[in-house]
Amino acid sequence: AVPGEARIISTAKVQEDSTTGAVLEKFASENKVQFFLISFVDLLGVLRSKLVPASAIKKVADSGPGFAGYATHFRMTPADPDMIAIPDPTSVIQLPWKKEVAWVASDLYVNGQLLKQAPRQVLKEQIKKAADKGYRMKTGVECEFFLIRRDRAFASGIKAAEAYDTTPKPCYRQGSLMKQYDVISKLLEYMNEMGWKPYQADHEDGKCQFEINWEYDDCLATADKHVFFKFMVKTVAELYGLQASFMPKPFRNQTGNGCHCHVSLWTVDKPEERNLFLDTTEEMGLSGLAYQFLAGILLNAKALSVVYNPTVNSYKRLDGKNPSSGSSWAPPSYVSYTGNNRTHMVRIPDKGRFEVRRPDGAANPYLLQAALLASGLSGIEKELDCGPRCDWNAEERGPPEGMKFDALPENLLDALREFERSEYLKETLGTEFIRSYYHIQMEQWKSYSSFISTWELENTLDC
Ligand code: ADP
Ligand code: MG
Ligand code: MG
Repeated sequence: AVPGEARIISTAKVQEDSTTGAVLEKFASENKVQFFLISFVDLLGVLRSKLVPASAIKKVADSGPGFAGYATHFRMTPADPDMIAIPDPTSVIQLPWKKEVAWVASDLYVNGQLLKQAPRQVLKEQIKKAADKGYRMKTGVECEFFLIRRDRAFASGIKAAEAYDTTPKPCYRQGSLMKQYDVISKLLEYMNEMGWKPYQADHEDGKCQFEINWEYDDCLATADKHVFFKFMVKTVAELYGLQASFMPKPFRNQTGNGCHCHVSLWTVDKPEERNLFLDTTEEMGLSGLAYQFLAGILLNAKALSVVYNPTVNSYKRLDGKNPSSGSSWAPPSYVSYTGNNRTHMVRIPDKGRFEVRRPDGAANPYLLQAALLASGLSGIEKELDCGPRCDWNAEERGPPEGMKFDALPENLLDALREFERSEYLKETLGTEFIRSYYHIQMEQWKSYSSFISTWELENTLDC
């Protein structure tokens, strides 16, 4: 659905039955849905909603429930008019674990205008730009998570759900996977039911860390599913008395939670769509267009680091810090790409796609896709060259002598400075978004900086 379409149709009263409200009302009656969660994601990735009874959906969906922007992570004040959430019926999902409720992503308006800094809107803008050039980005995300037990208050500490599992290399261990069979199989069952085509689940490299993979899709659909996946995993974990965490590095000596993203670009027309990244005659199976897109992602990685790695904690996952299993599986802090090698920022695992490995579990699902698409498109537009492929083991050693690579930010503040400095980002992602995101994220940094940590006390009390 085109943003705002439902509103235009409803005010013009052209076709009463095709309004968003009417579509959702029909969905409710066909599926015995009693409530809708009308949802949106703010700049820090927080999922927010209002619960609307199906009996009121026809009216509410077209005029939208209102939200006070200041109460969420947008750069707004208490004096600003309400944000109105207009649901996008193409995103509706009936909750597999609570069938009387359906979740629907929405687009935010203020004073009848789309809110420019809303993450879903930022992505839609890029999708439109791509479509105008004849491209459609398809992506698959790998959202790793830990299952943990929380002792009473958060401050009193967290531990992996299977704290006694002390095996040094827990990845793929059948025993460790099957200990959490109830949670993982339930998630697979629900994903099947929703038609996501899940195809595997495994125990990852951290203690009680898991990953479930489902089939790639158009990037907006992937982003909506990514949001819903986090909601679903957290909910199902709670049903089994556990907590799920996507935090980038919750345990100092364990591998962190990555959120690798696999990318390809397709022609717009369905059903005769073609993967424009595929060239079976090329060594890695990638087309010239794919390399240009990749070059754009590499060139802008520094400025977009704060989108891929948006929290203070994000930077503790990167650069192979402290893994007890031997590998952190997170790339080093320089910009490089490789073939089927899991130690660089970008990996080419197969023909017709590549994998961006820097993003982590805290990445905002919409902004992650928007960042990849915007920078990739610039690579095509400017016909960029991505330079040589780097086939060394980057966990073992740095680049060979004489080869220079762009360094990536190693903390949130440096990332924010790179983000704010980039003229290119202001042009492509819009000044309103850049200003708002910078402001909201800088508040995070300031809040963190004022906190006195155990490390400081342990290391500098006696100074
Ligand atoms: P790995 O662990 O090797 O990085 P996974 O199998 O865990 O890979 O995840 C691969 C992801 O890439 C899945 O979401 C898959 O659907 C997706 N994918 C596969 N082919 C493409 C493609 N052409 N374009 C985008 N994503 C793809
Ligand atoms: Mg994987
Ligand atoms: Mg991967």
